[in-house]
Amino acid sequence: MLVMKFGGTSLATRERIETVVSLVRQRLARHPVLVCSAHAGVTDLLLNGARRAAAGQPDLGPVREREQATLAALELPGALVEPELERLEQMFQGLALLGELTPRSLDAVAAFGERMSVKAIAAFLRRRRIPATAVNADEAGLLTDSRFTRASPRPEAYANLRAALARAEGVPVVTGFIGRDAAGNVTTLGRSGSDFSATIVGRAVGAEEVEIWTDVSGVLTADPRIVPEARPVERMTYAEASELAYYGAKVIHPATIQPAVSRGIPVRILNTMDPDAPGTWIGPARARRGTGVTAVASKRGIHLVNIVSGRMLGQSGFMATVFRAFADHDVVVDLIATSEVSVTVSVDRSEGVAEAVGELKKLGKVTVNSDNALVAVIGERMRKASGLAGRVFGALGAAAIPIAAISYGATKTNLQIVVPEERERDAVRALHDALFPAAPPPGDAG
Ligand code: ASP
Ligand code: MG
Repeated sequence: MLVMKFGGTSLATRERIETVVSLVRQRLARHPVLVCSAHAGVTDLLLNGARRAAAGQPDLGPVREREQATLAALELPGALVEPELERLEQMFQGLALLGELTPRSLDAVAAFGERMSVKAIAAFLRRRRIPATAVNADEAGLLTDSRFTRASPRPEAYANLRAALARAEGVPVVTGFIGRDAAGNVTTLGRSGSDFSATIVGRAVGAEEVEIWTDVSGVLTADPRIVPEARPVERMTYAEASELAYYGAKVIHPATIQPAVSRGIPVRILNTMDPDAPGTWIGPARARRGTGVTAVASKRGIHLVNIVSGRMLGQSGFMATVFRAFADHDVVVDLIATSEVSVTVSVDRSEGVAEAVGELKKLGKVTVNSDNALVAVIGERMRKASGLAGRVFGALGAAAIPIAAISYGATKTNLQIVVPEERERDAVRALHDALFPAAPPPGDAG
């Protein structure tokens, strides 16, 4: 079995949906299960509509018009999603009466985007003579916890889904994004959660692969806004994809990788607008060629907290005290560098930092330095690549980029360097130039 997940932009127009149909047709022998997002923009329309309804202005107009326009473009009857629109109308009225909006009601409203889109896609597939059934994941047993707007699947979800999907006739077209808690409330897995649904379904059916169809040709070696010549990464490991996700690369969220990792199911990122591009394959195996570096990424808004203490020397429990101060104020620490008398940590949010620093001052002299960027060289094979550190620091040195801290953890998947924020782009470019030298022009190879 094969899971094919289509995001909102892949379902935005008739032309894209025709592409979806032909991609599904090509793969029928592999027994595809589709996981679909709402049509692009619909989730935002629903959430805005819910907010306005709770503020006393219930108006289903924008959602209704958008859905009807999509159905009209597909030459499908508007009546197809009338039951969902009626239910939404009632919910908006209810929100207006109550005048309040809870995370639970936000999820109940947001879920309708996916419910309407799977109905439309399944109907369109049938019109094209591909038997298909729309499946609402909440009804099919995608059980979650009750953390509305950011729920996670419960262990029973997999067996439930497996049984429900085995009963579906033809190609199951499953809602992304939504689930249901033990009390029967509809939940969502968080914005962009359909990727997560895809790997959950993949694990449930024991898929041979999960294809994530989106609007970019996979993951690139660097942010193309910083490095225009960045190129697609053909293969990367789950660990590399998770590291990259932290830097906001256009790659699926770490939670999304988890169900795939647990069964070793490969995930492929593909582009609906360029279906023949190889995309990026994410799986357990390592890439075999190249420098060992997969990508260069970066993140701005990094604070460095530096603690200098004479008492650190030889004191057991010192680090525990430092980390407790951060934990007590819900501050997540990313990078850590230590010496005999000092500890430097990086954090990427300012909330709670001042409070944590207040406590740390009991331990020694504390300074906070705010305008930094974290630049990361990511690649699981880096540990085997000799001379890499020399190239990294040589490139930064040649560009006269000061380095505020360095970390290279035990798994050797990610070499992180803190640089001043205003040098972020220079650092990424210098590293990309050094680590991904341009291929020789064709014919040059002799
Ligand atoms: N429709 C949801 C959203 O817009 C989920 C998704 O697209 O993955 O966030
Ligand atoms: Mg998405």
